[in-house]
Amino acid sequence: GETIMKVSHLKKYYPIKGGVLSRVVGHVKAVDDVSFDIKEGETLGLVGESGCGKTTTGKTIMRLVSHTDGEVLFRGKNIFTLSKSEMKAYRKEVQIIFQDPYGSLNPRQTVGDMLTEIITYHQLASGEGVQQRIRQLMEMVGLSDYHIGRYPHEFSGGQRQRIGIARALCLNPRMIICDEPVSALDVSIQSQILNLLKDLQAELGLTYLFIAHDLSVVKHISDRVGVMYLGRLAELTETDRLFENPLHPYTQALLSAIPVADPDHTAVKAVLKGDVPSPSNPPKGCVFHTRCPQCMPVCSQEIPVMTEPEPNHYVACHLYPAEQQHQGKPEENQH
Ligand code: SF4
Repeated sequence: GETIMKVSHLKKYYPIKGGVLSRVVGHVKAVDDVSFDIKEGETLGLVGESGCGKTTTGKTIMRLVSHTDGEVLFRGKNIFTLSKSEMKAYRKEVQIIFQDPYGSLNPRQTVGDMLTEIITYHQLASGEGVQQRIRQLMEMVGLSDYHIGRYPHEFSGGQRQRIGIARALCLNPRMIICDEPVSALDVSIQSQILNLLKDLQAELGLTYLFIAHDLSVVKHISDRVGVMYLGRLAELTETDRLFENPLHPYTQALLSAIPVADPDHTAVKAVLKGDVPSPSNPPKGCVFHTRCPQCMPVCSQEIPVMTEPEPNHYVACHLYPAEQQHQGKPEENQH
C-alpha cells in the first residue's frame, strides 16, 4: 500500500520546572527523534513498557498534545501546519480509541444521543438518515437497536469499547489510533474486540496505529511492529520477522519474557537488570545501555542511528553499524 502517514524525527519534550522562580530546569523526553511510516490499510503495532512514549506518540499524532519538533505527514500534508478547515478535515479522517472509553463518554447521555450529536454537528446525515446511520453503526460493532437508548453505565467493558469504536467510525475515518483498546478487558473479551477491529479493517479499508504494552496482543493484529524504549524507537519490522529474528537486545528481552504467564509484566524485569531509568534523566548514548546484556564501550557514548541490516528491518543499536547495511533496494522487497 501507499504511505498514508509519515512520522519524521518526532519529538515531544515536557519541561520540568524547579526552584523558587519555577524556571525550566530540564526536560522529560517523552518522544525523542521517532520516525516511521504507516501504509494505507495496514496495522502498525507500537509496543513498549509504560513510559516508553508510545501513548504520547499517538496523542501527538492526534494533536491532542503539542509537538516539540519533527514532522507528521498525513497523505502528504504536515499536520502541524494545517489551516483551520484542513484541521477539521484531519480530525474526521484520523480517530482515536482509548483504553477506557468510559472516561470519555458522558454518563448522562445515551449512546443514541451521543452519536446523534456527532452526526448532526458534522452534518453527516439529517432527518431519518441520522437514526439509520446510528442503527448501521450499532450493527457494525455488534450491538443492537436495544443499546441505542442505553447509558454508558449500563454496558459491560467490552460493550463500552464497542461504543468507543462506533463513535470513532461515526465520522468515516481513514485511520484509527487504537491506544491500548483491549488492555482493560478480560482475555476472552480481548479477542472479540481484536476480531471486530480486524473485520472492520477488512470491510472499510482502515489503517490502524495499534498501541499496546503487550506483545502477544500486537502479534495477532499487526502487519509490522515498532518497539519503543524510553522515548525512542528501538526496532521496526514485519511482525513475523520481529518474533522470529529480533535484532535489538531490548526486543529480545521482551520476547523472552512473553511465555511466562505474567499479568504484572514483572518478567521483563527478571530478564533485564534494573528498572527503566527516568525519562527526565535518560542514560547518555544508547538509552538502553544501563540494562543491556550486550553493552559495549561505544554504547554509553554515542546514540545509535537507525540502520537497515536486512530489507525492511530497522534497528537502532551499535551491534548493527551503518557500514554493514544490506545493499539491496528496500522498495523492491515490499509487497
Ligand atoms: Fe545494547 Fe549497545 Fe545496542 Fe544499546 S547500542 S542496545 S547498549 S548493544
